[in-house]
Amino acid sequence: MMKLPIGERQTVAEGTERVVFGLSGKKFPFIAGQHLQVAVSKLLYPDPRGRSRVFSIASSPGETDKIAITFRFDSQKGSGFKRTLLELPLGSLVEIEGPFGYFTLPDDLNQSVVFIAGGIGITPFLSMIRFAEETRRPGAITLLYANRAEASAAFLAELRERDARNTNFSLKNKFGPLGADFVRQSVANPDQVLWYVAGPGAMVSLARQILFDLHIPPAHLFTEEFEGY
Ligand SMILES: Cc1cc2nc3c(=O)[nH]c(=O)nc-3n(C[C@H](O)[C@H](O)[C@H](O)COP(=O)(O)OP(=O)(O)OC[C@H]3O[C@@H](n4cnc5c(N)ncnc54)[C@H](O)[C@@H]3O)c2cc1C
Repeated sequence: MMKLPIGERQTVAEGTERVVFGLSGKKFPFIAGQHLQVAVSKLLYPDPRGRSRVFSIASSPGETDKIAITFRFDSQKGSGFKRTLLELPLGSLVEIEGPFGYFTLPDDLNQSVVFIAGGIGITPFLSMIRFAEETRRPGAITLLYANRAEASAAFLAELRERDARNTNFSLKNKFGPLGADFVRQSVANPDQVLWYVAGPGAMVSLARQILFDLHIPPAHLFTEEFEGY
């Protein structure tokens, strides 16, 4: 376990908050796509789920001075934990455990991958996309990004810029529910890529069904379910 200060906080899209923890010389090695657990020492508001949560790391391993997470927060219905994390004074120490998980890019750097992100499910992919560009990973990455509306699509401007400048990265964007047609039309060679899906449980189940109908073998599919939504 490591204690790190809350360094920065920003609203990055409608109902979507980014929190950065400063490393100030400490090391937190991780692989893009992994997650961590954040615990506050004391809740400022009651929370039946307790004083900790799991979040994907949204920053790249190349950003060695900080680690960042991003989460949905509803100012009316949001949990006591998230409210606490957003109201603690900057510089307050939180407990970080991890990294955890195997939702990471394949070892074969030439392997093409398709990411399907439902809303806040963008977080592990953001880390992978940033890292892949920094390290000039040769395999193609296609991101299918489904959000209810443009206003709640976090990091869309950054992803559009990356799509414009990086020939290895392609963004396919959808406002509204994920659908079979969107997936089918966005990927020309579905049986030659590895598929990664992340987001709230209902969205991951929907994507799994769409990919099953496309006859994607289970061994070509990796999922990360954001339980709790
Ligand atoms: C491996 C892994 C990685 C994860 N990564 C992330 C991540 O990167 N980002 C992330 O956000 N979560 C992530 N999660 C989920 C995270 O751990 C929390 O469970 C989730 O964010 C819910 O947080 P919360 O319990 O604080 O609830 P809140 O989001 O605050 O919601 C509290 C309650 O209110 C309800 N609620 C919230 N908003 C609304 C609304 N607008 N309308 C109606 N009801 C509402 C919720 O359903 C919930 O019951 C991850 C989970 C796992 C297992």
